[in-house]
Amino acid sequence: MNAKKLVIAIDGPAASGKSTTARLVAERLGYLHVDTGAMYRAITLKVLKFGLKPDDVGNVGRLLTSTRVELQRTNDSVRVLLDGEDVTEGIRTAEVTKAVSAVSQIRQVREAMVREQRKMAEGQGIVLEGRDIGTIVFPKAHLKIFMVANLEARARRRQDELKAKGINANTRLILEEIQERDELDTTRDESPLKRAADAIELDNSNLTINEQVEFVLKKAKRLLEQNEVK
Ligand code: C5P
Repeated sequence: MNAKKLVIAIDGPAASGKSTTARLVAERLGYLHVDTGAMYRAITLKVLKFGLKPDDVGNVGRLLTSTRVELQRTNDSVRVLLDGEDVTEGIRTAEVTKAVSAVSQIRQVREAMVREQRKMAEGQGIVLEGRDIGTIVFPKAHLKIFMVANLEARARRRQDELKAKGINANTRLILEEIQERDELDTTRDESPLKRAADAIELDNSNLTINEQVEFVLKKAKRLLEQNEVK
């Protein structure tokens, strides 16, 4: 394995293919994959369990002080732990998806998550995916990718994902959910979703997963061959 360790940031809107690409790129490089959206979802799950409103800044902030979110790598997957409990599946419900953007706007939530994410990168190669990785979490990441895809492609992928889980979702509702979340994520005051000036935009509307992965890997390998990467 190459001794140099890259920090790779993959940002983009909802259902733009970040997770699959980040997971496979990390696998191929032997790096850690961090799905930062899963961390925000875990906090949101706890907020809902406690019956709090997602925008209740004071109470959500207090709840955070006794909340632990961890990503645990097993042989073939990454499990999401909330206060020690495996919530990997529980964070993907429609309720969490609907509330997560409001919880993610809260400054204390962001500060706590960003701190954790930076810690994870210490001493190892890492691929992080989210909304603010290239802008806020790792503004000096070695490689920044901003993934986009047209709305139809994104809705289709989300629908296929749900179908694989046995859920038949209405296309119009999926489109609305994606648009609503993008709107909140891009217009919020705290770390809004935006392309970092030095990010490479990858429109994958008409690409296969393999093509997306190869695109990122090629850029990463080129950097690894250069001497200036520390
Ligand atoms: O990536 P995913 O769609 O699972 O993310 C869920 C939500 O978490 C996003 O819609 C956004 O509100 C929030 N998020 C964020 N910053 C990140 C990752 C996710 O605000 N770095």
